[in-house]
Amino acid sequence: RRRDRLAAGAGPGRTADGHPVKLLLNIGSAKDLAPGTEGAEGTEGVGLFRTEFLFLGRAQAPSFEEQVSAYAEVFGQVENVIVRTLDAGTDKPLPFLGLPGEDNPALGVRGLRVDRLLPEVLDTQLDAIAEAARRTGTSPWVMAPMVTTIAEATAFARRARATGIARVGAMVEVPAAALRAGRLLREVDFLSIGTNDLAQYTFAADRQHSALADLLDPRQPALLDLIAMCAAAGREAGKPVGVCGEAAGDPLIAPLLAGLGVTSLSMAPVCVPLVREALAGLTLAECEERARAAME
Ligand code: PEP
Ligand code: MG
Repeated sequence: RRRDRLAAGAGPGRTADGHPVKLLLNIGSAKDLAPGTEGAEGTEGVGLFRTEFLFLGRAQAPSFEEQVSAYAEVFGQVENVIVRTLDAGTDKPLPFLGLPGEDNPALGVRGLRVDRLLPEVLDTQLDAIAEAARRTGTSPWVMAPMVTTIAEATAFARRARATGIARVGAMVEVPAAALRAGRLLREVDFLSIGTNDLAQYTFAADRQHSALADLLDPRQPALLDLIAMCAAAGREAGKPVGVCGEAAGDPLIAPLLAGLGVTSLSMAPVCVPLVREALAGLTLAECEERARAAME
């Protein structure tokens, strides 16, 4: 019965009254799109292609060609893909980067910040994404993790656009970026909110720490306030603002996020059917009401 219900509900994400909320996939490689993957059918693209997998456990960076073929393999399978540039650091260590150890890795050189020490890593990756797009005749969007200041977003956007990448975005994972969402959207084409890290940095609570789970609950009003600010900035700018953290794949939270005004939800494929069903069961006004209640 459950399978029938889910099959009947396949298709674009919508609330009961037809308000669209794109349902996108979080993937780590083309393998996550293999035929038969539960939830992968009927979605509207990839909202977060984590590229770390290619770099993991390597003594040397993957070559340009190796990167091009890994990216092209994904672009060849799905029409709309948002690629996230490498998100490494001492909390997601990659030996080939040779980063020095840090006392406080979550607050150290990670995500886009690695570019301060090793700019050639991002240069090669952006060139490889652009080349994979050319070879497959596709137009992937590209975003950077851990963007903190407007200057970082500006510099990233300039470099990405110089390679011919069509749409450039910033992840919102640091409260400083959420607070300046409107200004950020003058530099980039879209925002994608990484609620896992945004919660960690908003509540000063290690995202892996089970004793602090209540602080990391995505229904925490301070987090919802930041998401609402980003969504409002997106509406004003007429640009997409999605959520790609784990919260997006939780059928109890997804309606709240829709009610806050985000335009897409990106999640592990297996989460898609229940999120689609949760959205389809509520009107936009009901989602907004839930969001208001949670913020109260
Ligand atoms: C996030 O922080 O919410 C996110 C999507 O990125 P990651 O979980 O890969 O850090
Ligand atoms: Mg993150």
